Amino acid sequence: MTDGGDRRSGKLVVISGPSGAGKTSVCRALKQLPHVEFSISATTRSPRAGEVNGVDYHFLERAEFEARVKRDEFLEWADYNGRLYGTLASPMHDALARGKTYLLEIEVAGTRQLRERSTAGLYVFIEPPSIDELRRRLVLRASNAAEEIEQRVQIAEAEITAARGTVDGQPLYDHMVVNADLEATIARVTELIAPDTPAAMRGGD
Ligand code: 5GP
Repeated sequence: MTDGGDRRSGKLVVISGPSGAGKTSVCRALKQLPHVEFSISATTRSPRAGEVNGVDYHFLERAEFEARVKRDEFLEWADYNGRLYGTLASPMHDALARGKTYLLEIEVAGTRQLRERSTAGLYVFIEPPSIDELRRRLVLRASNAAEEIEQRVQIAEAEITAARGTVDGQPLYDHMVVNADLEATIARVTELIAPDTPAAMRGGD
């Protein structure tokens, strides 16, 4: 895989969190910040209603995805629920060279790959206040069938456990932010990723 490199002046921010934790709402708010650019991942899953190719994802056939893996075009990639997802390296290098804050919304296995390769960045995991609250939020999403909710709850529990893991004795994520209140969470993460926030001021969560 392509290395993160040292030629950058911007900042890489990695955001993860299980379905129902509020990660997508947080990322939607962060996209409005002028210093932030958002990575558009490649994926082999099909577009959902309303999703646009090249905007939400680059939707690729599996053979095309695998060819790009061979060409070393990904910074990281992972199989999530039988579908492949990956971050293209070259748009990130571009954005960081322009001094941008480059935001990746990726799952935990991809984060682990970045950490294993010592990719510099700020790593944030957004978690629900409790599993019961997560289940309640998933139930509120009308499109979720009962068994799908239980499947997502199980995936979420596994992701939260994995997110508490370490790489070379260091925590996978710099911050575990509990999303009890969406506005407060957006404010907290906005503060964390501010370009002029010195690392020492950020504290722990
Ligand atoms: P969804 O299919 O719901 O859009 O995404 C499923 C999961 O894949 C989410 O946890 C999302 O954060 C993650 N994901 C999206 N893009 C990437 C990527 O480029 N790399 C990795 N490792 N995970 C991704």
